[in-house]
Amino acid sequence: MKHNFGAGPCILPQAVFKQASEAVLDFNGLSILEVSHRHKDFVAVMDEAIDLTKKVLGVPDGYSVLFLQGGATLGFTITALNMMREHKRAAYINTGTWSSGAIREAGKVGIEVLEIASSQDRNFSYIPKGIVCPDDVDYLHFTSNNTIAGTQFHDFPKAKHLVCDMSSDIFSKEINVADFDLIYAGAQKNLGPAGATLYIVKDEVLGKSTSQFMPTYMDLKKQADKGSMLNTPPVFSVYTAMLNLKDLQAHGGVKEKQKQNDAKAALLYQEIDSNPLFEGTVAKEDRSKMNVTFKLTDESLKEEFDKNWKSADIVGLPGHRSVGGYRASLYNALEIDSVRVLVEVMKEFARVKA
Ligand code: PMP
Repeated sequence: MKHNFGAGPCILPQAVFKQASEAVLDFNGLSILEVSHRHKDFVAVMDEAIDLTKKVLGVPDGYSVLFLQGGATLGFTITALNMMREHKRAAYINTGTWSSGAIREAGKVGIEVLEIASSQDRNFSYIPKGIVCPDDVDYLHFTSNNTIAGTQFHDFPKAKHLVCDMSSDIFSKEINVADFDLIYAGAQKNLGPAGATLYIVKDEVLGKSTSQFMPTYMDLKKQADKGSMLNTPPVFSVYTAMLNLKDLQAHGGVKEKQKQNDAKAALLYQEIDSNPLFEGTVAKEDRSKMNVTFKLTDESLKEEFDKNWKSADIVGLPGHRSVGGYRASLYNALEIDSVRVLVEVMKEFARVKA
């Protein structure tokens, strides 16, 4: 079995892959790929996925959970359209590629974006601190984990109307959903296969947009009223996400995952900091526990190091094409033993080069 450190789509539990594959051949006598989304058996799957999301994350009453399509990228637009109020102005924190995308798309639908904090000056290698949200904005948007740069908010900013793209760290740790008006996340990290996009939205928010333009699909009120079935949902992705949430719940939920994720990240960062051949690429206090970014201190060793980790059955380690170096993604389903294999490759490389 390969050790998949890919950033997404990514590893899911093997038991989930097995159950999902079985349903491709037999889901109550049909394939999950051919069943009607209106059939009571699939409606029950959707209900269960929603219910498990609420239980696992501790979603309080007064919130709706939706499984839509379009990825987090469409979420940038859906968020802006649904959160637009009288000011038609919003505060955004720019911590990398995905925040920049959210800013760009909000501008396109008529939101005046106030970039109230940014880490662009140092290539997104840190999380801005001391953020104060102005009063005269409709909402504050931030990205909790920066999948490409490898930084993460360990303390969330505060605002009256808080919106977060949690694509790459949702379900990795405990969160207080009540602090947010809207959370959204593409499924393809800790939730399930690509195709579904999760929205957790405060019911008070629904139907209050001041936007002149609101495509039916993007109207979260209409989607909530139809139980995410306004059109055909991504059936297989929702089914597999449901299996994965069940698996997560059966293994101690996000509390237990958080402990394991902390241990995995600590192990790898400890090696990066103690091994003279490697260095981390972001501010220590803002390091992501999901996407660990690092590089060689001597780039001329790249070819040799790449050969070593590849021969240890490691895949998905190269950094994003926009930053280079390496990125080890430690999502929920990645076992600590896989991190041990990578650490051993790094140690052995240092021994050989000493
Ligand atoms: N936001 C974050 C934090 C991401 O990591 C990604 C994708 N990796 C996106 C947004 C874009 O997601 P999608 O491909 O689902 O549109």
